[in-house]
Amino acid sequence: MSLETRDFDGLLGDANTVVDAAWATAWMPRAPLTVSAWAELYRVLPEAGAAEPGPWRNARNPHLVEIMDCLGPQHPCERVVFKKPTQIGGSEVFINATGYYMCHDPGPIMWLVPGIDLAERHSKQRLAPSIEASEEWSKYVKSSRSRDSGNTTRAKEFPGGILVIATANSSTAVRSMPVRYLMADEIDEFLRNLNGQGSALEIAIRRTGTYQGRRKIYLCSSPTIKGDSLIDDEYEASSQGERHVPCPHCGAYQVLVMAQLLDDGTYLCSNGECGQFIEEHHKEAMFAAGKWVHRYPDREVRGFHLNALYAPYRLGESWQFIANERAKAKANPALQVTFTNTYEGLAFEGERQQADHESIAARAEPGVLRGRVPRGGLKLSIGVDCQHDRFEVHVVAWGRGQRARIVDYDVIPGDPSSPDGYAELDAWLQRSYPNCNGVQMIGNAVAIDGGNWTEMVAQYVKSKVQRSGQARLVKVGDGYQPQKLYVVRGRSAKSERIVYKPSKTEVNNRERTLARSVGVWGVGTDVAKHILYGWLISDGNAEVDVEDRRIRFPGGSGEPFDPIKPDPGQLPPNYYEMLTAEFFDLTARKWICPKGVRNESWDTLVYAYWAALCSYKLDMVREHEWTALEAALEPRADDLFATPSADAQDSRETSPPPSPAKRSADSRGTTRRFDGDDDLRPTKPARRRTGWVDPE
Ligand SMILES: [Zn+2]
Repeated sequence: MSLETRDFDGLLGDANTVVDAAWATAWMPRAPLTVSAWAELYRVLPEAGAAEPGPWRNARNPHLVEIMDCLGPQHPCERVVFKKPTQIGGSEVFINATGYYMCHDPGPIMWLVPGIDLAERHSKQRLAPSIEASEEWSKYVKSSRSRDSGNTTRAKEFPGGILVIATANSSTAVRSMPVRYLMADEIDEFLRNLNGQGSALEIAIRRTGTYQGRRKIYLCSSPTIKGDSLIDDEYEASSQGERHVPCPHCGAYQVLVMAQLLDDGTYLCSNGECGQFIEEHHKEAMFAAGKWVHRYPDREVRGFHLNALYAPYRLGESWQFIANERAKAKANPALQVTFTNTYEGLAFEGERQQADHESIAARAEPGVLRGRVPRGGLKLSIGVDCQHDRFEVHVVAWGRGQRARIVDYDVIPGDPSSPDGYAELDAWLQRSYPNCNGVQMIGNAVAIDGGNWTEMVAQYVKSKVQRSGQARLVKVGDGYQPQKLYVVRGRSAKSERIVYKPSKTEVNNRERTLARSVGVWGVGTDVAKHILYGWLISDGNAEVDVEDRRIRFPGGSGEPFDPIKPDPGQLPPNYYEMLTAEFFDLTARKWICPKGVRNESWDTLVYAYWAALCSYKLDMVREHEWTALEAALEPRADDLFATPSADAQDSRETSPPPSPAKRSADSRGTTRRFDGDDDLRPTKPARRRTGWVDPE
């Protein structure tokens, strides 16, 4: 095949690029092939696993030609994005480009895939047979059967480079080498954060830095849920190429969309004046005449999108098959997500459950001050989120019926990766808050997110708590109060309850065993979020009395928020924005935090709730225990001395009868067996005003 026959439309940029490319090719010792031309000449589809074994034919996969050629040195782009359905030949692009690099333009290559299974499958079932089947390609890679061949499942050496197949859920593999060609598959399944350093993809992209100007980054995936889909975000930021194909009857170029596919598997031409039916057998000629049209041709990142309708004739799924699958998905909402992702190649956007931050902010109660415990708040808990340069801390007071009163929210500078980074946080956690009677209260239970810096958070906790377990004593006035510190980590797996105990030998992200005494506790975040979100939403009901609200917020002076001179008694607007940043996609059944959106006040509320459930079994506190706490902390005689604003918030008389077991189904069972939890027992009621001291 000669170069003249290749279609370079849209491949070459301005005159400079053309000249540069010409110079580059002039000095290249090897023939200036494009990736697709290389595939046409040398790629052989192996007998096993291929629908049509034998020499690769670009004519059978015309959509893939431009995608492949963007991955070759002739095209100036460095990043190529392919948002795709599952069965469209995406992995052939991987293999063809890899063969090209190994034989023609060598450099270190990394394949990045979500898990070890996929890595092995790609390597053994697709790559190795492809190398063996191609006479040309196999010259560059030694047989894996010979010893010291440098050819294993996970790594293949070749003159001038090495191919490494790495998994995106381990940072060690990703960190180890510089990369010129990064090829990432199914990126929507990648872990988003490895030890707080960002995702494996971000780390791997950093590895390509030394090859800037000569590197290629290929990202492909079928998308997942809108707002949570990496490939969708990447495609949105790209040139957004779509494949236009001509109608065999009228010749009108059009993008194939599901809406035009009829239930009988024929396709209705979208040209209103034509209105004729296109059939499966028309595909071949129609696709051969197709062209990519980029919505933003000037963007440097080349993006491509296909749906399953573009599967070549007799390769991949037929239109009839797709129409049948669509019918099934219409009848069963659970299948809708899969159909949208894997056939349409689109991110799914279902009905959302999302609270509105302004209406929640409007519930803040004037006269209630941030930093003080309102009447009815009888136990405090604290949730801590770790970010690379700070801690975000949420203090919540709890009362009858698990009702929450937000006491404080703050951002504390500190580096969670350093042992010295915790000093300011530690001092902050020992703060006490006055209640309506002037009794100083501390956060009795603290849950610190150890998801990213597990080892360092555990070391901090270990250095503070007594040998017996999670607790330490904090000096308040002239007495001491107990405080329990927990290292927690949100569970990624689906959870049925909120509190999960640490296993006996706890292992951190880097797979080192942690000391038993401060295991890493699990947070069933999905369950906790459903409950707390339900409360936020039900509180919005106009018929709910203020006193009955489940989560109450301090409103300070009651004046609108002033960014120049903020009222210290209020919470800032971004507190409420973070609280409602996540939404629940009702069809996908998944909590989604859109990329780049902060949600720390929400996460820390979850941790604070967890701490209250785990430490003092908030869901199981009995009525007589609440009464005793009330007598100790809010004695009636002291009402005479209480401030008017405190009186105004008196919720004691109006509190509904407690329902301790009401919400407990999720967390009970795990929280029950927990030793040394006597600090709720009303042993010495109403003894003093200055400190609430518990006998250890
Ligand atoms: Zn037509």
